[in-house]
Amino acid sequence: MADHAEGLPVAVVGAGPVGLAAAAELADRDVPVVVLEKGGRAGAAVAEWGGVRLFSTWRDLVAPAAEKLLAGTGWTRPDDGAYPTGADWVRDYLEPLAAALGERVRLGAEVVGVSRRGRDRVVDADRGEQPFTVRVRTADGREERILARAVVDASGTWASPGPLGADGLPALGEAAVADRLSYRVPDLGDPAVRSRYAGRRTAVVGSGHSALTALVALAGAAERGPGTHAVWVLRRGGVGDAFGGGDADQLAARGALGERARQAVESGHITVVTGFRTAEVRNSGGRVVLVDEDGRELDPVDEAVVLTGFRPDLSFLSEVRLGLDATLQAPAALAPLIDPNMHSCGTVYPHGAEELSHPEPGFYLAGMKSYGRAPTFLALTGFEQVRSIAAAIAGDHEAAARVELVLPETGVCQGSGLPDPEEAARQDTAGGGCCGPSAGPQLVELGKNLRAHRET
Ligand SMILES: Cc1cc2nc3c(=O)[nH]c(=O)nc-3n(C[C@H](O)[C@H](O)[C@H](O)COP(=O)(O)OP(=O)(O)OC[C@H]3O[C@@H](n4cnc5c(N)ncnc54)[C@H](O)[C@@H]3O)c2cc1C
Repeated sequence: MADHAEGLPVAVVGAGPVGLAAAAELADRDVPVVVLEKGGRAGAAVAEWGGVRLFSTWRDLVAPAAEKLLAGTGWTRPDDGAYPTGADWVRDYLEPLAAALGERVRLGAEVVGVSRRGRDRVVDADRGEQPFTVRVRTADGREERILARAVVDASGTWASPGPLGADGLPALGEAAVADRLSYRVPDLGDPAVRSRYAGRRTAVVGSGHSALTALVALAGAAERGPGTHAVWVLRRGGVGDAFGGGDADQLAARGALGERARQAVESGHITVVTGFRTAEVRNSGGRVVLVDEDGRELDPVDEAVVLTGFRPDLSFLSEVRLGLDATLQAPAALAPLIDPNMHSCGTVYPHGAEELSHPEPGFYLAGMKSYGRAPTFLALTGFEQVRSIAAAIAGDHEAAARVELVLPETGVCQGSGLPDPEEAARQDTAGGGCCGPSAGPQLVELGKNLRAHRET
């Protein structure tokens, strides 16, 4: 890094769990940092799903550097074995953490552009010598420019939910029926939301944990009130492993969610429609009709809950030289390890600054956004990512490379998930692979070998 960038802060985009953990790591290393959050509070995205109970316990939801920083503030660590809601996570951890970081956290500061001083993405001339320019729009509409020595984009994907169209584009007519669509898990604890779905027929489109959460909630409402029914719309040809690993899931609450969804389907309050790839949606007499690629029409519903995953907002990174995977829009070195097309067990080999870096030196994607369109991101992963990134920015490359991460497995086996097909075959024949009982430690080891291999 050029001398003149030495005194400049690291800009962290987003005051969510991972952005704040990044700031705590950097503060712990006396590296100046500014966290830019577009929302009016820390954990602004998490607060929007405040009614959802997490399937991780507090043990896995507090970053080590954050705990260290909070220790001096009289903060009390919540019970490790308890499962918070999103609202608990914000109130009992994210907001106290932001307060402990003090002026380093700027709320109401939306990042609308990132580039290099005096150079667009094409210009090479002493590019790496130039600080980043971070363009910020403040809540009162002013625009500012901040110079930064490095940028950690931890802005998540919550603001970019997937559309109804099975091809990844909005379905024909989607905008016209927007008042009947929701892209969030309905919080039936809220009376206004409850009245929208009670006694009515709702389509739930998607197969991830959010869809399972919505199905369980709607089946519960159906138990309490006649006329409430859900239609689970799946692109895939069968339910398959959509309910997850059940008892085999090392995250007990995640496994239990799948089991509750299975019981909800078996209860009869939910109709399952498979092999339905939505292409169009129509308004028919005030109700919503989904039409699939082959012209098949779903019986009319009153509401549709669209939970088809998330995708990264890359619009404000147009001037940054990113190295993204064509499929997942995740960092190219990370993508093969999290690709849902070949990896389901949730184990991800340890990765850090190296895998999260890009052709643009000093720029990192971290947190939910680093997974691009891949599901299964866990906060634990993000905490380890930013520990490594902070070490790299501080020049402590030994600590940056020493990444360790063992994640709770989903208990769902599909393919080995190992990046090296030869290694995958060797592991599978040895009865290991990422679904084998001893996968975690082996993957840590493998991670190191892969790294060593890459460095030679
Ligand atoms: C319903 C739900 C349940 C989950 N349950 C679990 C669980 O049990 N266990 C687990 O480990 N993980 C869970 N996750 C996954 C993950 O841990 C969370 O999504 C977590 O909030 C990700 O943290 P993050 O900091 O990467 O992103 P976010 O929490 O999304 O934070 C990003 C922040 O960036 C801000 N921002 C966005 N764009 C800009 C911009 N341009 N400028 C400035 N600020 C910006 C947003 O307002 C937001 O506050 C869950 C996710 C969801 C959606």
